[in-house]
Amino acid sequence: MIGILCAMREELEPILKFMNVKEKINHANNIFYLAEFQNKDIVLAYSKIGKVNAALTATIMIEKFGVEMLLFSGVAGGVDEDLKIGDLIIATKTTQHDVDLTVFGYEPGFIPESRVFFECDEKLNTIARNVARKLGIRLKEGIIASGDQFVHSKERKEWIKKTFKASAIEMEGAAVGCVCWNENIPFFMLRSISDTAEEGAGVDFDEFLEESSRVSAKFLVEMLQEVKSD
Ligand code: SAH
Repeated sequence: MIGILCAMREELEPILKFMNVKEKINHANNIFYLAEFQNKDIVLAYSKIGKVNAALTATIMIEKFGVEMLLFSGVAGGVDEDLKIGDLIIATKTTQHDVDLTVFGYEPGFIPESRVFFECDEKLNTIARNVARKLGIRLKEGIIASGDQFVHSKERKEWIKKTFKASAIEMEGAAVGCVCWNENIPFFMLRSISDTAEEGAGVDFDEFLEESSRVSAKFLVEMLQEVKSD
């Protein structure tokens, strides 16, 4: 079983269009869509926004539905200069930019017995790179930073960039990364840029959410054809 997770309904809908949905299960205020795609069993859901919601849905996918890998698709604020609205990025690793225990001497993002960065699965990233090459699509990669805030200020964005070397900012990735690291499940994170996380980001987000969600969804579905599952 493959798990596909989004944060928002708008991000999931363009993926569902490609799926043969067999059943819908309501659980813990989430809807889990059991579907088939090219003989692969898939469970899909959107978690709602933020790290806590994303962690809950990811955990249910693993514990209740027994997914063997988790793929995330959605939108993000671009940090790297060359990331324009609509561009695609995969995460090499994710981090929580709003974790701050620095007063105790820990580095930003660090929680004792946990870690600053959660690595994404190299095999899945390799599949993504190959699919991008085959389709002639530009696919960036880099660190994606998550926090429970919609970043819309140059100052905050620059701090996140400097502190974590982040290439994009969103609100769920590191939560799913953390769950998958603890559960030992391969994790893949794909995002299409909806805004540049600076002043005006809110307006851009509203304008580009749908289109950028579609870009991410389409790429994920292309990639799914190459993903092997048991
Ligand atoms: N307008 C929405 C709220 C969007 S929150 C509403 O009213 O319901 C932004 C969502 O997109 C989050 O899920 C987050 O992961 C992602 N995102 C896109 N740009 C972002 C940014 N600049 N900062 C943080 N998250 C961002």
